[in-house]
Amino acid sequence: MTKTYDAIVIGTGQAGPFLTQRLTGAGMKVAIIERKLFGGTCVNTGCIPTKTMIASAYAAHMVRRAADFGVVNNGQGSVDMKVVKSRKDAISGQSRAGVESWLRGMTNCTVYQGHGRFESPTEISVGEEMLMADRVFINVGGRAVVPQMPGVDEVPYFTNSSIMDVDFLPRHLIIIGGGYVGLEFAQMYRRFGSEVTIIETASHLAQHEDEDVATAIRGILEYEGINVRLNATCIGFSRRGEDILAHVDCATGDPEVTGSHVLLAVGRRPNTDDLGLTEAGVGVDKRGYIIVDDHLRTRVPGIWALGDCNGRGAFTHTAFNDAEIVGANLLDDDPRKVSDRITAYALYIDPPLGRAGLTEAEVRTGGRHALIGRRPMTKVGRAVEKGETQGFMKIMVDAQTHEILGAAILGTGGDEAIHSILDVMYARAPYTVIQRAMHIHPTVSELIPTMLGELHPL
Ligand SMILES: Cc1cc2nc3c(=O)[nH]c(=O)nc-3n(C[C@H](O)[C@H](O)[C@H](O)COP(=O)(O)OP(=O)(O)OC[C@H]3O[C@@H](n4cnc5c(N)ncnc54)[C@H](O)[C@@H]3O)c2cc1C
Repeated sequence: MTKTYDAIVIGTGQAGPFLTQRLTGAGMKVAIIERKLFGGTCVNTGCIPTKTMIASAYAAHMVRRAADFGVVNNGQGSVDMKVVKSRKDAISGQSRAGVESWLRGMTNCTVYQGHGRFESPTEISVGEEMLMADRVFINVGGRAVVPQMPGVDEVPYFTNSSIMDVDFLPRHLIIIGGGYVGLEFAQMYRRFGSEVTIIETASHLAQHEDEDVATAIRGILEYEGINVRLNATCIGFSRRGEDILAHVDCATGDPEVTGSHVLLAVGRRPNTDDLGLTEAGVGVDKRGYIIVDDHLRTRVPGIWALGDCNGRGAFTHTAFNDAEIVGANLLDDDPRKVSDRITAYALYIDPPLGRAGLTEAEVRTGGRHALIGRRPMTKVGRAVEKGETQGFMKIMVDAQTHEILGAAILGTGGDEAIHSILDVMYARAPYTVIQRAMHIHPTVSELIPTMLGELHPL
């Protein structure tokens, strides 16, 4: 028998639960479907577990650096990976349980566990059950890509999901991919005590960043003993006894890297291939991302797509913002749209990179008359006091309007300090607002006004 609702939400990631709260709060009867773990990627295999483990790795790093700060550490300081994992599991599990109990306790909300699939634009099957609604919100997220590299099926490998089960120290972790996910795991495992090699096909790590940022990131990682192999071509795998060989075939360096374990971190793909989108008439692009407009409507009236599956963002904050946009349009008569938002994200190596707006390369390509300010972290008092002076910050502003175009803070506290810049960008206020503001001493943020006082033509 078909059960009818006012709305159906598929997926309990970073957009679905919040949107469900908004819809049920407005009096709608909502069904929400989850096929695996409540909370989705961020809670179970993404942001929360990785940042929890990065905190363990930071602790290990600081124990090794204890003497730099005058702290006597007589022991060697070793890492108990079982405890690292159980701490991670506890924090992630608490969050997952929180999402589940929130949804189950929500008035007007019915939770279904199983795989949701369109049978028509208004009908979704979940196992033996059939649900129907005039409004369907797709929040199915994505999963790790397993690249068809020669030999990949002949060796054991981890993805960002399966590596969450590891409670031992890999002797030598080979990471394929020098993007955000690969870099975070690289530094984390190096700090736990593994030998780590990153293999990247591009000519620099963190491809989407400016070259000076990418070069500094590489320096930070190499300083800690991580091997970086760039311009890798023809990556493939084979086994030699217990070892795994990654064939790199680079222009320089060893043609192969011998390791004990492999992590594939070459990107993600949307979970849209098993959703019955053809039955619904919902269109996808050639990479499988659901095509949406600025208000996140698909081409089928009554069906929206939110979060990673729409290709309009790949972060928790973009997924959550999608839910805010859809809620505002549907319930508040507030025409918020995706194009209102400013690019912002962080890369959680240590020190972290906080980013807002355009890169320097994008500003240059755009061709407008711009000014730039730059400051190394060695000239930031707080960084010096903390003994964490790696990195730099830079900011680009429009020479005519004085609006801030973009910024990068690679340095201690960069993930937090970037927000003072981001908020002024949202206010569309001139950079002089920050330049004249009195910031707190000693902070990383207090040097942003100083940097803005030293702008010069780009
Ligand atoms: C290692 C790693 C680290 C990350 N770190 C960060 C970070 O620090 N900051 C940040 O902002 N972002 C980070 N991200 C990205 C972030 O996790 C995602 O952008 C975010 O989780 C996307 O949320 P979502 O709601 O789109 O989808 P998801 O969180 O992926 O949720 C989708 C849900 O839908 C369910 N589902 C899928 N198909 C169906 C179906 N047919 N029926 C029923 N249920 C279904 C899935 O089981 C899942 O629970 C990281 C990602 C990874 C992999």
